[in-house]
Amino acid sequence: MSGKVAVVTGGARGIGAAIAYKLGAEGASVVIADVDEEAGAYRERWLRSNGVNALFIKADVSKEGEVASLFRKVEEKFGRLDALINNAGVANFKDFFEETLEDWYKVIDTNLTGPYLCSKYAAKIMAKNNGGVIINIASTRAFQSEPNTVPYSASKGGLIAMTHALAVTLAKYRIRVVAVSPGWVDTSAWQFPPRSPALTRLDHLQHPAGRVGDPMDVANLVAFLASDHASWITGVNITIDGGMTVKMIYLD
Ligand code: NAD
Repeated sequence: MSGKVAVVTGGARGIGAAIAYKLGAEGASVVIADVDEEAGAYRERWLRSNGVNALFIKADVSKEGEVASLFRKVEEKFGRLDALINNAGVANFKDFFEETLEDWYKVIDTNLTGPYLCSKYAAKIMAKNNGGVIINIASTRAFQSEPNTVPYSASKGGLIAMTHALAVTLAKYRIRVVAVSPGWVDTSAWQFPPRSPALTRLDHLQHPAGRVGDPMDVANLVAFLASDHASWITGVNITIDGGMTVKMIYLD
């Protein structure tokens, strides 16, 4: 990734922070875009102290004006863009009958409209400099659900479908588009709502690999997909879940 430039949305913490670190360790300059100003500024300092050429830009991915400004700043500063990681995401676990239209739009706006807008503005820069790659962080919740995650599952299923459409649309600009669907990953999102020790143990046991994921598990895959080693991979969704989605429930 040496000499390349990457934007990671939601890069202030969790999976996004791990991706920013990994891409930076591979030599990329990394822009982390996040709504959380304090966490973003902290992450920029943390990445820099770990040898990453990092820059934090505050942006809400669901607002077109902020997305346009983000990518204008990226182009002005670096003159190029090689990788966009659409990672920013939110979930809610509200009772379906209590959930409001506002709750629905909060999730859809961030998880689906955000990647749509960021992909558009990023692709315009990539198209000028001979292509790039867009990686959409979806979720196994697109095809496996627990109760009361309706907007989240819908948003991630839509994101995978959008990945297919974008891959076809942007191929002529030499832009690859790939989705990555993690299972449980140990971040603040996994810990909310707070999980009992028994439930935490169950989460681990659901995985043939014997554990939930670490953010670096996802970051390592994303770094491969962003590299030229993955130049023939586009238009697919890759599950990374320690085998969780292929496991049947059975009694030993
Ligand atoms: P997290 O909550 O730890 O971090 C998400 C980051 O996104 C935060 O820094 C937050 O401020 C930022 N963000 C939220 N809304 C934003 C917006 N509108 N604009 C810009 N930034 C915004 O979450 P995480 O667990 O690291 O999840 C990262 C991605 O991975 C999400 O898309 C999530 O749906 C997906 N995912 C997570 C898991 C998991 O178990 N943790 C599993 C599958 C998929």
